Amino acid sequence: MKQLKERILRDGKCFPGGILKVDNFINHQMDPILMHEMAQEIVRRFSNHNINKVITIEASGIAPAIMVGAYLNVPVLFAKKKMPSTMENMLKTEVFSFTKNKSYPVCVSGDYLTTDDRVLFIDDFLANGNAAMGIIDLITQAGATLEGMGFLIEKGFQSGGAKLREQGIHVESLAIIDSLDNCTITLK
Ligand code: 5GP
Repeated sequence: MKQLKERILRDGKCFPGGILKVDNFINHQMDPILMHEMAQEIVRRFSNHNINKVITIEASGIAPAIMVGAYLNVPVLFAKKKMPSTMENMLKTEVFSFTKNKSYPVCVSGDYLTTDDRVLFIDDFLANGNAAMGIIDLITQAGATLEGMGFLIEKGFQSGGAKLREQGIHVESLAIIDSLDNCTITLK
């Protein structure tokens, strides 16, 4: 997606270890106009799916997910990183965080993820696919159906995209980073 690619090249910053910082328009300060356009594009790319729920993981997936949910006119469920003592019918899994280099538990209530749900997963980044695999586990536990996975930015030099597509999952990424070598952003 042209607008996102241009913005990454203008405002994205590379950090050692293959980290791209987009704090100026996605991860800290957010650009609602761009977020709106990105959501519209994701919805267009999944228009042949019958989606009745959007799922994401807190915190950075929530902004794009809620915009996509608003376009689709469906509820948006976010997996929580803290286990609320009041959550009923809890489904749990573990996710390894690429940026924090440690695993953390995530949960959703089985009251909001059920066999009736045809789910689109939305997240800001796809790197090694750990967050996505955690969500697949929750969807499987719930007996729900995964319709597809939409990402704003995919790091094409990491393994997540290939892993998910090999499983036959419909994966869409609005911008794919080919390389962050020498702290230079190279887009596909
Ligand atoms: P994965 O689970 O696919 O390995 O990593 C994706 C998750 O890690 C995303 O939810 C995102 O928050 C975070 N992440 C991975 N790589 C980057 C990166 O280069 N920059 C930022 N800002 N987040 C990243």
